[in-house]
Parts: sequence; structure tokens; C-alpha cells
Amino acid sequence: ELNNIPVIVLTSDKELEVRCLQYGASDFISKPYPDSSIIKARINRVVELFEDRQTIKSTERDALTRLYTKEYFYKYVADEDKLNPNINMDAIAVGIRSFHAIKERFGSSFSDSLLIRFSKRIKKLMPNIFGMVCHLEADTFIIYSRHVDDYESLLKELSIDIFVDKEKKTPIKVQMGIYQNVDKNIDIDVRFDRAKTALNKIRDSVVKNYFIFDDKLKEKELFEEELIESFQTALDEKQFVIFYQPKFNIQGDTPKLVSAEALVRWKHPQKGLISPGIFIPLFEEKGLIQQLDLYVWKEAASQMRKWQEKYHKHVPVSVNVSRIDLFDPTLVETLLDIVKENGLETKDLLLEITESACISDVDAIIEKTSALREAGFKIEIDDFGTGYSSLSMINKLPLDALKIDMIFIRNAFSSGSDNKMIKIIIDIASYLKVPTIAEGVESKEQVAVLKELGCEIIQGYYFSKPVPNEEFVPFLIAE
Ligand code: C2E
Ligand code: CA
Ligand code: CA
Repeated sequence: ELNNIPVIVLTSDKELEVRCLQYGASDFISKPYPDSSIIKARINRVVELFEDRQTIKSTERDALTRLYTKEYFYKYVADEDKLNPNINMDAIAVGIRSFHAIKERFGSSFSDSLLIRFSKRIKKLMPNIFGMVCHLEADTFIIYSRHVDDYESLLKELSIDIFVDKEKKTPIKVQMGIYQNVDKNIDIDVRFDRAKTALNKIRDSVVKNYFIFDDKLKEKELFEEELIESFQTALDEKQFVIFYQPKFNIQGDTPKLVSAEALVRWKHPQKGLISPGIFIPLFEEKGLIQQLDLYVWKEAASQMRKWQEKYHKHVPVSVNVSRIDLFDPTLVETLLDIVKENGLETKDLLLEITESACISDVDAIIEKTSALREAGFKIEIDDFGTGYSSLSMINKLPLDALKIDMIFIRNAFSSGSDNKMIKIIIDIASYLKVPTIAEGVESKEQVAVLKELGCEIIQGYYFSKPVPNEEFVPFLIAE
């Protein structure tokens, strides 16, 4: 507490001035004292300066780890380049393997303490590589350092004596993505994007600890830049088209169409049909997803309207809702408007929210989801089983169905596997009194087993791939 009070030394010994200031005094006033108004003014100024410095210090550093925040870090990177323009530098992104799983298993106070311990370790190592470090988000750190020759030893030093469990049995596994000998003409954030891209390439891999940004990744980066640049035109020119994949209830004697999932594709004039697996994560990262999702929701709603008018068929459609959409304060209103403009009811529009969207800011997510459900929308939790959300979270989340991620279907039906995970998820769903939807079902055998296990709804190539409207109509008519 005393540390936060500036000290002014008052003395008649003029010789002492430098020493007092060296010892940390903020100011020095020698006798005979000047006019009291001058003293007052100087005190005021010292207090102000002191407060400014505190403010700078506190915004400079991340509250949890006390490492630089991104804004200050980037500024210091620029300073470093100015100071040493000819020294080879590396941009490094550092991550902790399976951090989400650790957090899920041992709780967030444990994972926070892990981050603090790890931050101290990184910080301590920085002088060895003439580097500086920033805590970017969750378990991602970025380092700007003089070019490192031996990444293996750096990795080793980063992980010595840090354990990811309370019994100190499992040592931490650190992973790095490296953009080495950076081109200093490239924007600072692009340099670290490259390091992150390299890290993402091996994230959670058990065999690789580090990856160096290469020409192949550079090509990918270029491709992505082109996609970002053509996004607005694509939206204006309606290059995004919606495909529909039917979902069937299989519990009766014959499968019954219950709804369809709207899945977007990009008909790019030069690059051909691009799959959402490529552009959705990119748009999420670059903040474009909200615009695209809004477009998809509107298209899907207007399609539903046409089906009703033309074929008198009432088949609800599910649309994907990204995590970022959930933080838009106007979301409920926007969706209500879409439904109203197309003469639909809220229960016609099913909202797929991926489980991994629900792992942080849990309270806010629960609140928003509740509001959506109160407005009458149905909520389906997508990719269930892969998002590490806790059971207590799922219990609090208002929801209408669990979608079993494809990976569990794959695992259950590959050689030597069993269907334990599927059984567990169906159990959870029945506890929550909601149906399960199995995704990625491709064979008759899979359908039979899932039916036996009590799964109610099936979506997958066995019935149909996602298809354009014209090809979906036969499913509608057959209803
Ligand atoms: P998702 O929501 O989990 O969608 C299911 C994905 O599984 C779709 O891939 C679908 O084509 C594929 N699939 C369905 N049945 C089978 C099957 O039997 N076998 C195999 N191998 N695959 C099957 P798609 O259409 O490529 O979409 C990928 C992801 O892109 C989606 O995963 C979703 O996360 C995202 N996405 C698609 N459209 C949108 C959108 O409009 N907005 C947002 N935010 N995300 C979207
Ligand atoms: Ca989905
Ligand atoms: Ca899914």
C-alpha cells in the first residue's frame, strides 16, 4: 500500500538530491523552501505523474499473468524493431497441450494457477533469448525474440517442473508455432498470425511439439486473404448458397422427416465450390461470421416460407449460430424479425449452438440461450461430446436436443471400438428429457444400432448429403 504513495524529500542538504532520486524518491525540494504555492503545485504534479504511471502500468499488463497485454506488446515490438532493425527476430506462439481438458478436469482456479506458474517461467526465460512475451488469450502466449537456434531446448526449459495435475504426475506439454526470421516489412499482427497458424497446425497433436511457418502455410494465408477480400462482393452477389440436409426420426416403423439443417456453401466464381469447413473458422476469426450467419438465417427462413406456400409442407429448419452471434444484444430481436417477415413461427427455426461455444462466459451464454428459448426458438446443442462443457453447465442450459458429434459415430463403428460414448450421451439426453440426433450416419448398420440404443433422430449420408433446394423438394413431397 505504501508503495503507491509518492515520496518527496525535503532537506537543506543539496548534495543529497541525486541520491534521494536514485533511491526512488519522486521529487526533491531543498531548503530554503520556495513559496508555498510552488510547493503545492509541485506536490500536485508529482501525484498526477504518479497516478498516470500507475494507470499505464495496470493497462500494460494482463490481470491474471502480469504479462504484457497485446496492445503494449505490439508497441514494444515496434520499438524493438526501430532500435535493432538488423537483428533477426522470431515471432513465436506458445500453447499448452489439452488446456481445455485440464481446465475441465481440475477446475478453473487450478488452470489459472497453472497459467500463472507458466507465465512466471516464460518471463524468466526471456532474457536468455532477448525476448519479450505477451499473454494473448486462454493458454496462448506470444513471444518476440532474437532468432532461436534450438527450439527443442527452449521447449524443454519452458516445461521443466510444471505439472498439469495436483499430484505432480503429468508434466505440462508445451507447443510452439514459429515464424522465424520475420520479415520486418510485414505488419506485426500478421507476423504473429503466422506464428499462430503454425501453432494451430499441430495444436493438441501428441507427436509434434513445434512447427515452423513455411511456404505451404504462406499459400494458405494468401488464399485466405483472397477469401476475406472477396467476402463483401460474394455477399452482395449471392454467391453463398444454402444446402439442406434432412433429419429423420427413426423410432417408428418407417423413417419420418422431422427437419433439415441449413448448411452454407460458397460458389466462388474463380475458385469453385468452397466448403464451409474452410471459410467458417476464418470468418469467425476475422469477425465476418455475423454477417454471413444473418444472410443464411434469412435465406433459410424465406425458403421455408416458399415450401409452405408451394407444397403446404411445414418442415422446420435448423441454422447454425456461432458463439459471436450469442454476444450480439440484438440477436433475439433479429431472429424474431426474420421469423415475422416470413410469416413463420419461432418454433420453425431451430438454432444449433455448438457445445464448444459454451465453455466460457457460461452465465452470459445461459442467459442468452434462455432468452431465445423464451421467445419460442428451439435449441439444439451441436457437436455434443467434443466441447468439454461440464455437466452442471449442460444441466442449466435450456435445450431441446443433443446432437451427437460425428466422431463418436466414427469411433463406435471402426474396428475394435465400442459404443460406450454414444450410450453415455443418450443417457445424458434422457436425463435431460430431450432427444438425441446422431450426425454423420452413413450405413444401414449404424442406423440399426443407433435405433437399438434409443437414438431418435438421424442426419447423415445414409439418408442424404446436404443438397440444394431442388433436390430437397422430393423429401418434402414424400412427407
Ligand atoms: P456441422 O454443423 O457439424 O455440420 C455437419 C457437417 O457434417 C456438414 O459439413 C455435413 O455436410 C457433414 N455431414 C453430414 N452427414 C455426414 C455424413 O454422413 N458423413 C460425413 N462424412 N459428413 C457428413 P459441412 O456442410 O461441410 O459443414 C461444416 C461445418 O461448417 C458445420 O459443421 C458448421 O459448423 C459449419 N457451418 C456450415 N454452415 C454454417 C453457417 O451457415 N453458419 C455457421 N456459423 N457455421 C456453418
Ligand atoms: Ca450444425
Ligand atoms: Ca455438428
